[in-house]
Amino acid sequence: MNCYYCNDKEKLDSLMLKICDLRTSTLYLFKDQKHKGKCILVFNQHKTEIFQLTELEKQNFMSDISDAAEAIYNIYNPDKINYAIYGDIVSHLHMHLTPKYINGPEWGMAFKDSIKPIELSDYEYNENILKIKNFLLNNIK
Ligand SMILES: [Zn+2]
Repeated sequence: MNCYYCNDKEKLDSLMLKICDLRTSTLYLFKDQKHKGKCILVFNQHKTEIFQLTELEKQNFMSDISDAAEAIYNIYNPDKINYAIYGDIVSHLHMHLTPKYINGPEWGMAFKDSIKPIELSDYEYNENILKIKNFLLNNIK
């Protein structure tokens, strides 16, 4: 199967860094941090549409989204979080949790990958991962 979430750890590692496992998904810090605090939440099985999930999986996935967003909101103080599920090219169910800032990039429009990425140092990535992980450990319901 041609899916890097399932089968290409190298490609996955080039795009994002694992933060932690949640109920039914895995949370990653997106390496391109032009939207400060951007994360990707990846469903743990290769499913492509929300209606393919069981009722319990749907509930748990929504709780994972909520917890991840709450962490992002509290740590980065964005003006809004954008929640996006696309998947035309990478169909494995995953959600972009994209914090947006009034004077930041792409405020008032959909985010794109066409704007120049902003990468951090390994130290900075680890700092961000620890902040999010600690928030979730201390605040998950
Ligand atoms: Zn997959």
